[in-house]
Amino acid sequence: MSITPGQKTPTGVTQGIHPNEIIPLPQMTRGPNTLVMAVPRNRMMTTQRYEPIDSGVTPRFAGHSTFMRLPVVSDPRQLDIAIVGVPWDGGTTNRPGPRHGPRQVREMSTLIRRVHSVTKISPYELCRIADFGDAPVNPIDLDRSLETIRAFFAQIVEANAVPLAIGGDHLSSLPILRAIGKKRPVGMIHFDAHSDTVDTYFGGLKYTHGTPFRRAIEEGLLDPKRVVQIGIRGSTYSADERDWPLQQGIRIITIEEFEALGIDAVNREARRIIGDGPTYVSFDIDALDPAYAPGTGTPEFAGLTSREAIRMLRGLRNLNLVGADVVEVSPPFDPSGVTALAAANIAFELLCLLAEVVANRKT
Ligand code: MN
Ligand code: MN
Repeated sequence: MSITPGQKTPTGVTQGIHPNEIIPLPQMTRGPNTLVMAVPRNRMMTTQRYEPIDSGVTPRFAGHSTFMRLPVVSDPRQLDIAIVGVPWDGGTTNRPGPRHGPRQVREMSTLIRRVHSVTKISPYELCRIADFGDAPVNPIDLDRSLETIRAFFAQIVEANAVPLAIGGDHLSSLPILRAIGKKRPVGMIHFDAHSDTVDTYFGGLKYTHGTPFRRAIEEGLLDPKRVVQIGIRGSTYSADERDWPLQQGIRIITIEEFEALGIDAVNREARRIIGDGPTYVSFDIDALDPAYAPGTGTPEFAGLTSREAIRMLRGLRNLNLVGADVVEVSPPFDPSGVTALAAANIAFELLCLLAEVVANRKT
């Protein structure tokens, strides 16, 4: 059975939200009794902003661990930016676990405060942002899950909201791009140790976390000439593994080239390739060195530091961003949560980038 957010189950419970958590709108988001809010679908509310729970009232270790301590909102028309979990790892070819990623990232995101330390941006003052819940998945039905994830993101895109997704394995990006790139191909800034443009795995299987961007290019969702991959490294299945993406026109910046060029030059190169067209940002947490992000399925030695990653992201302001994701956090391989902490901080950087762009677009 497929249930979309806000739809009632046969028992009358709204998916993903306990009935006791649905509170009247006037009480809104602050105070100890207003931890989580669900907005009824039939209520039009075009200007309401949402704030993280006030940590001066409710300490950050208390309350529901939603993304960034934001309220839950299940109507995309009430949002400019929807933060969405994708609890999916059915495309994983080696060490599993990213199905548990959204919950651990939600937990670690409670450590994040409201205002960006450098830009002083508070995304919640610029845009209507909330935790939109998790995309529905069936962990043993890949084809059906690709469709339910796509449909979940399509309702966000059709409501003119921008999704920020927390995976999930990297196959999650394909159904998201099917929603975002439906009308025209988009560009992509892709942080990863891997190109994820392999053709097939395990005897011809086309849908794995090693193949999403091959499929996205084949389906016309991505413009390969506006795709830049940053941090690529590690051993490959064959010597010609990167020939196909290079032939498509993807710009691959390996970790070796990253080091040789330096962060600022890589940023300029990424901005040159992307230009001013619509652009998605996809951040595979394995772009980081395993020292900073051990909890992932396919760790690769000698990657980006946390500080390099954050400097890269801060160099991506005011691009024409249409969505973003952070994927491949596998909590079973990092019970400490340091990987999810990295993902939560990267998600906040992305949220600030998106909020600035979305707010400018609307004025
Ligand atoms: Mn990947
Ligand atoms: Mn990867």
